[in-house]
Amino acid sequence: MAVYKILRAGDQVLRQIAKPVPENEITAKETKKLVRDMFDTMIDAKGLGLAAPQIGILKQIVVIGFSKNERYPKLESEMERQVLINPVITPVRSEILGFWEGCLSVPGMRGYVERPSKIKLAWHDEKGEAFEKIIDGFNAVVYQHECDHLQGILYLDRLKDPRLFGFNEELEIADSINKTQTEAV
Ligand code: ZN
Repeated sequence: MAVYKILRAGDQVLRQIAKPVPENEITAKETKKLVRDMFDTMIDAKGLGLAAPQIGILKQIVVIGFSKNERYPKLESEMERQVLINPVITPVRSEILGFWEGCLSVPGMRGYVERPSKIKLAWHDEKGEAFEKIIDGFNAVVYQHECDHLQGILYLDRLKDPRLFGFNEELEIADSINKTQTEAV
């Protein structure tokens, strides 16, 4: 088991564009090890997803997968563990969906972000197989958030309003006063 240090906002590596994994490297031993280490790191940090640039590796690899955990007690859905190599996202609906997103690279904070509610996702898995799928709802938000990391984009860049951002504890206090619903990535 190898748990990497997760880079935090301000680290310039998070702002760089990750390189696609060449086809002959998708099933290579080094990629398998990296994917294993990414899952170890994501689970250790209780994240829902992790992109390779978050551990300082500028490759287009994302791991995703979650069940209910204490970091996200309000989550209703669960997502099977999944590896996305060289993912490409195309929005297929102009409707937008707003969520209070969080990020392992911006620990302890949340911000309100709106994104397309339905996307087409194309990717390779760790066995080199190509997939394409239409995804909507909360899962579409998770994929978009993680794939943004591959382009050097953080959810902070997409805040609906800079005032809709803050520390979890303060937002929870405000939430209990305002009774607004909060969700998180
Ligand atoms: Zn993130």
